[in-house]
Amino acid sequence: MRATLGGTCLNVGCIPSKALLHASEMFELASKDFAGLGIKAQVELDLPAMHRQKADSVAALTKGVEFLFRKNKVEWIKGKGRIDGPGRVVVTTADGAAQTLETKNIVIATGSEPSRLPGVEVDQTRIVDSTGALALSPVPKRLVVIGAGIIGLELGSVWRRLGAEVTVVEYLDRIVPGADAEVATAFQRALTKQGVKFRLGQKVLKAEVNQIDIAIDQPAKFKGGTKASPPAIPDPITLTFEPVAGGPPETLGADAVLLSVGRRPYTEGLGLETVGITPDKRGVIPNDHFRTSAPGVWVLGDVTSGPMLAHKAEDEAIACIETIAGKAGHVNYAVIPSVIYTYPEVAWVGATEEELKAQGVAYKAGKFPFTANSRAKVNHEAEGFVKVLADAATDRVLGVHMLGPDVSEMIGEYCVAMEFAAASEDIARTCHPHPTRSEALRQAAMGVDGWTMQA
Ligand SMILES: Cc1cc2nc3c(=O)[nH]c(=O)nc-3n(C[C@H](O)[C@H](O)[C@H](O)COP(=O)(O)OP(=O)(O)OC[C@H]3O[C@@H](n4cnc5c(N)ncnc54)[C@H](O)[C@@H]3O)c2cc1C
Repeated sequence: MRATLGGTCLNVGCIPSKALLHASEMFELASKDFAGLGIKAQVELDLPAMHRQKADSVAALTKGVEFLFRKNKVEWIKGKGRIDGPGRVVVTTADGAAQTLETKNIVIATGSEPSRLPGVEVDQTRIVDSTGALALSPVPKRLVVIGAGIIGLELGSVWRRLGAEVTVVEYLDRIVPGADAEVATAFQRALTKQGVKFRLGQKVLKAEVNQIDIAIDQPAKFKGGTKASPPAIPDPITLTFEPVAGGPPETLGADAVLLSVGRRPYTEGLGLETVGITPDKRGVIPNDHFRTSAPGVWVLGDVTSGPMLAHKAEDEAIACIETIAGKAGHVNYAVIPSVIYTYPEVAWVGATEEELKAQGVAYKAGKFPFTANSRAKVNHEAEGFVKVLADAATDRVLGVHMLGPDVSEMIGEYCVAMEFAAASEDIARTCHPHPTRSEALRQAAMGVDGWTMQA
């Protein structure tokens, strides 16, 4: 078990990945974009220092949770918990000692772990999962990312900015499957412009580590051969994949491979059988308003159904505890935002156009590009757009999809609006500060009824 509090999010998830995303974005900005703003700078990467500032932020935040435990009189028993029949949890500490806790209610919140792929053995050195990808050093020369989901694209972006040649190999014929297709296409175009290569519709068969002793960022050097006929230099890793649609397999050389094909619920050794709980075939513990099939046993977060997101787990935790306390705990799953913290960022909440079409919902769309937003223009960051989808009959906002810098900070406005069942006209008639990117939120809402003013 982890020696620090805060789970995946604080230790090896949201927080360290955002620390690296921010630092690498600053590095790229200073290296490439300062000159266009009239700033001359000589920039050099200090990767150990970048990793240190990430670790400092993680340490400060996990200590913060410890402080909150003490402040709220929550006891932290350090060990691995296992359910041992109704109302009983056995905790085994690092020294092997066991302690039995008797309780009326048990909440399972054991989270998730990276999914594995047959033929791709994670060694956390050359072939890494998200945890290993947060600690790579030095920068790999060629990084292959398996899986074009949120985590793969975020961490792929980090290492591309720091100098890696990044190729993303994806099974589907599109990237980020949960996102609105129009946004995903524009996002892929933006990443491609930055130098990320995509191989879509490809099934990875295996990743072989070739036994050569070289640093992760250096091409292999071998003695022998002549200048005219140099010896063949093997790749540190050979990735083999084949088209999903059929066709001959291909290989790709890499210095590091990031396996990011999703996450699976973590229930190993949890003693679920002692209370008669059976996870479904994906390993998910099913729930009905956080109740499992066992009386007095509750479940929330990544280990149960729904999107694997920290704020979803947080919402469920509040609602679950309120329910246990006899109150009316509730989570509105229609308003759980998603964000990809790349450059540009992607953020969305509610239904995609594809979902509305599949459900046969009549809707209207309003769209506004950042090229027409004055703040985006003066900042020279005008990539992307805001799209608002509203019910054709009632004008109620059903979904909002954004691509652009800082949209992670802008999506919250629409979350509030949707919780209050706002119509797109409510946003369109709300005064927004000028000049800000947030004006694009209003302009896109105006677009639903065709009266966008700034484009
Ligand atoms: C690289 C990466 C980036 C991410 N970025 C984001 C992001 O930007 N935004 C976002 O919303 N989400 C993000 N996520 C997802 C987010 O981290 C998870 O959705 C969130 O942590 C789930 O919370 P949880 O409480 O369900 O589980 P976890 O945070 O996984 O916590 C479960 C805890 O239980 C402990 N545990 C497990 N079994 C036992 C046991 N038997 N006894 C005692 N303890 C046990 C585990 O060690 C862990 O500490 C990211 C994930 C990764 C990997």
